[in-house]
Amino acid sequence: SRAKLYQPERGARTCFDDVAGIEEVEQEVTEIVDFLREPGKYRMLGAQIPHGVLLSGPPGTGKTLLARAVAGEAEVPFFSMSASEFIEMIVGVGASRVRDLFEQAKKVAPSIIFIDELDAIGRARGGSQSLGGSDEREQTLNQILTEMDGFTGSEGVVVLAATNRPEVLDAALLRPGRFDRRVTVSPPDLNGRSAILRVHTRGVPVAPGVDLESLASATPGMVGADLKNLVNEAALLAARRGHTVVQNNDFTDALEKIMLGTVRGIMLTG
Ligand code: ATP
Repeated sequence: SRAKLYQPERGARTCFDDVAGIEEVEQEVTEIVDFLREPGKYRMLGAQIPHGVLLSGPPGTGKTLLARAVAGEAEVPFFSMSASEFIEMIVGVGASRVRDLFEQAKKVAPSIIFIDELDAIGRARGGSQSLGGSDEREQTLNQILTEMDGFTGSEGVVVLAATNRPEVLDAALLRPGRFDRRVTVSPPDLNGRSAILRVHTRGVPVAPGVDLESLASATPGMVGADLKNLVNEAALLAARRGHTVVQNNDFTDALEKIMLGTVRGIMLTG
């Protein structure tokens, strides 16, 4: 018997307003949103919509967030699977889980399937580690390819996948009709970091003196996930200090604490 049927995610809808600092990338996926909203318009013209879009970029830059926002903007169901989850599964189950996933998504199409950490199953085949798990990985990968090849274009299912390591992917994944559309999600620049800080302080009472611009200048190299964490650490500090609003020193102390933690982490790991 099969473990569980895939269900679309529920909960608050994510939209493009929740994603900051990567506007060019949003523009690239706008066409997908439009297609999911009005597949008929594209079908009528015989236009081929991409079946697969690969989002690549460093961890924490918002790839998952963006995929959710595409579904939210299009108001379509969002199915998500983490590729590494499949590797840990009982042998022989991966391929059938993939089949289930695509079946469920087609039933409620238009819809989105999101595959996180695609490289965990999508690494080039015939690699060195051909022990045990690798057969399972290959079967799972083959099933994904089979499903995507089976798309006639009228299903209205778009597969978005994320990876930190596009260079290790099997070339078969990138062929036409598969993940032939590639979008790079880069770490945010100064303006991007400001915008992300604004998004994450939307629900946070911030003291009038707090300057998010200068906080953005003080956080080079930080990505969305780091900045979200920074805002939260500052709010925690503020609470601990009995502040009713988050003050500038809460932010600067939180930043210092995070930086120290990072340095310590680097010293410990090597
Ligand atoms: P990973 O490769 O580690 O899976 P990812 O690129 O998918 O990372 P997300 O999981 O989307 O990153 O980011 C984690 C959280 O960080 C998001 O839920 C969001 O709260 C915040 N975040 C990341 N990037 C952005 C962004 N561009 N704008 C606003 N928030 C962001």
